[in-house]
Amino acid sequence: MIHAVESISAKETLSIKADKVILTCGGMAAPVLGSDGSGYTLAKSLGHSLVPVVPALVQLRVKNNPLRQAAGVRTDGTVSIYENHKFMGADTGELQITDYGISGIPVFQVSRHAAKALYYKRPVKAEIDFLPEIPLGTMAAVLRYKRKKQDKSSIMKAMLGFFHKKLIPCLLKNAGMKPDLKISELNEPLLQSLVHTCRHFPLTISDTNGFEHAQVCAGGVRLTEINASTMESLRCGGLYLAGEILDADGICGGYNLQWAWTTGYLAGLSAVSDEGRL
Ligand SMILES: Cc1cc2nc3c(=O)[nH]c(=O)nc-3n(C[C@H](O)[C@H](O)[C@H](O)COP(=O)(O)OP(=O)(O)OC[C@H]3O[C@@H](n4cnc5c(N)ncnc54)[C@H](O)[C@@H]3O)c2cc1C
Repeated sequence: MIHAVESISAKETLSIKADKVILTCGGMAAPVLGSDGSGYTLAKSLGHSLVPVVPALVQLRVKNNPLRQAAGVRTDGTVSIYENHKFMGADTGELQITDYGISGIPVFQVSRHAAKALYYKRPVKAEIDFLPEIPLGTMAAVLRYKRKKQDKSSIMKAMLGFFHKKLIPCLLKNAGMKPDLKISELNEPLLQSLVHTCRHFPLTISDTNGFEHAQVCAGGVRLTEINASTMESLRCGGLYLAGEILDADGICGGYNLQWAWTTGYLAGLSAVSDEGRL
């Protein structure tokens, strides 16, 4: 017989005795919606251990943000995450540049890698390709063509066809160039450096935004402590766990909801079946 644990947030506590209990308290992302992490405390009190819980599907904060001047710009890009120089993942889509760092779906998709590495105090770098749909060599070819024509316009103007105007000064600064440099003065090493900057823009990730901004949590109750056929706890008979409280997180696209629904369905069926399994 399981004694149902008392509601943590309720002012008055209530004890209910039950043969089977399903714990589906979620994680601690967006706690304003009700999941404040108290489910983890309940699971631990019943013998479970946790994979460290970090925010995921969340924005990334950038050290000395070299893109701050472009805050508010939305642009296509591929964001790649490196932990200690090791490639961890990449995604392409619409990036949102903010005063503190980077946001948008592709950032959310790779944020779990950054969050986990940061939890263990490992250095995290991001690299942005601001021309994800443009074949390699195209930008260099256009700049060389303009240079050959003795184009008198500035490099700033020449880049307008490729990038948002607020982004260009950031790109030029990172490549060590002045915005008023004439295209005719753009020698080959400078040109190569500029193209490299636009395709491999480096950022040092200092943090993620907090749980209040995250859509899910990475980490949670260890899956090795759960019977995957029934969702019953291997630590506490009659206890079932489902959803985000478990150590499973997916990218955007409905995978987290699907996980919650599927494991919840399985836990419910298992809990009401006589044998405790399907
Ligand atoms: C803004 C936002 C957008 C999202 N968008 C998507 C999306 O597009 N696709 C996708 O797949 N996923 C998305 N998610 C994630 C998805 O919603 C969750 O992964 C999923 O809802 C988890 O389901 P759950 O039932 O495990 O937990 P929850 O949905 O968090 O439900 C847990 C419930 O338990 C209650 N509870 C918590 N602690 C206690 C306690 N101690 N006692 C009693 N009750 C308690 C909470 O109030 C809550 O009602 C999004 C999340 C957020 C915050």
